[in-house]
Amino acid sequence: MLYWVFMKTYYPTIGLEIHAELSTASKMFCSCKNDPDETRPNVNICPICMAHPGTLPVANKEAIRKVITVGLALGANIADFSEFDRKNYFYPDIPKGYQISQYKYPIVSGGSLNGFAITRIHLEEDTGLSKHDRGDFTLVDYNRAGVPLMELVTEPVIHSASDAASFARELQLLLRTLGVSEANLEKGEMRVEPNISLSDDPSKFGTKVEVKNLNSFKSVEKAIEYELARMQALYEAGRADEIVQETRGWDENKQSTFSQRSKENANDYRYFPDPDLPKMKLHSAFDLETMKMELPELPDAKRARYISLGVKAADAEIFVYNAELAKFFEEVIKGKDAAFTQTASNYIINDIKAELPNVEHFAELIGMVQAGEITSRGAKDLLVEIITTPASPKAIATQKGLLQQNDPEALKAIVLQVIADNAKIVADYRAGKEAAIQGLVGQVMKLSKGSANPGLALQLLKDTI
Ligand code: ADP
Ligand code: ZN
Ligand code: MG
Repeated sequence: MLYWVFMKTYYPTIGLEIHAELSTASKMFCSCKNDPDETRPNVNICPICMAHPGTLPVANKEAIRKVITVGLALGANIADFSEFDRKNYFYPDIPKGYQISQYKYPIVSGGSLNGFAITRIHLEEDTGLSKHDRGDFTLVDYNRAGVPLMELVTEPVIHSASDAASFARELQLLLRTLGVSEANLEKGEMRVEPNISLSDDPSKFGTKVEVKNLNSFKSVEKAIEYELARMQALYEAGRADEIVQETRGWDENKQSTFSQRSKENANDYRYFPDPDLPKMKLHSAFDLETMKMELPELPDAKRARYISLGVKAADAEIFVYNAELAKFFEEVIKGKDAAFTQTASNYIINDIKAELPNVEHFAELIGMVQAGEITSRGAKDLLVEIITTPASPKAIATQKGLLQQNDPEALKAIVLQVIADNAKIVADYRAGKEAAIQGLVGQVMKLSKGSANPGLALQLLKDTI
């Protein structure tokens, strides 16, 4: 019997809301220290961030500058007019009863990252940190209350879990490159909240849910996949009406999401402009042209430049993520040609382990590889030596007998020794077993501690036998 199986197509849509704590010296509206590493509770607090009556907030210009920097790096529009609004709600981690945020006039709008359109970036203050795990009561640490927090919102234009995770990774890299945020997910310095929907009709969106409590990129990806599968199963069971707009949490142990609360609307928050803070005219308060010129090289530009230098794409990626290694690479290749650059990149990526060698010594070593003064085997040994010894690579190589022996006279002695020590293999070779000679080459390499030129060794062995 034949069945027609109609495989329905589903259309996933994802939009991201990403918060990042800005690494400023002080908090957003007071002069308390902004120190994410402070472990003692409630030491970085003052009457302003604790909302004592009669206190007034003063905006932190450095935080505004950092948000503008991110906007410029993303090719976004920087608003001329901007203001702060009060987002009203009651929760113990928000001492004022409202959070100072931005509603109608975000500092940044537009721009894109990884090809995905960004809606806006606004600036707000972080909340205190509630600790629910100490018994049947909750403790609140207000060190974090009032820390500057940027929120980036994307358009609903992402269509896969992996693209969503890549976007978040790229943003983390960008924030670190710009020196705007440490952006560690595990430390809560960066928080990624995906909005997810699934539709069976490409002309309209499905009902979205928002997932919170994700503290790794892996969890972001897993949670989105979980939600899309959950929604698809509901569609297929004819229960799509059970997909409701809500906030869901991620259970790391169960690797699943659970319903937390139904989503509130913006008008529930009664947003209104904060009368305590002056309106902002950003185009005159900041020199945007200069800020744009002073942007560091962005990850994407760096990738492209390294690849154009002949660095393999995967290796360029490693450099882009490791600023220290990239800086070392740049110093090593200064004024060198393409061949040197590629060899240096290969050795740095593949052979340098924990510790970086001295730049000049490393460059000299790469020069020796290029000149054929040392084999790749010898170069690896030498690399280990130059990290622990201050002497020059050439001196060490000479002393340790690592220089490639291109001199037939010098190699001859080793070849004769190997022939004398391996009568059986020599006999096999003479009897017509061609491959046997490779074993002898191996012996020559071993006896020369890898310094013999293998081609020359082979030639000498053939000539001698
Ligand atoms: P809300 O008013 O619920 O906060 P927004 O329109 O402000 O919703 O969007 C919040 C985030 O949700 C944005 O990143 C946006 O791209 C995303 N989003 C909006 N609609 C959908 C949808 N149907 N599916 C997935 N993401 C969506
Ligand atoms: Zn304070
Ligand atoms: Mg919204």
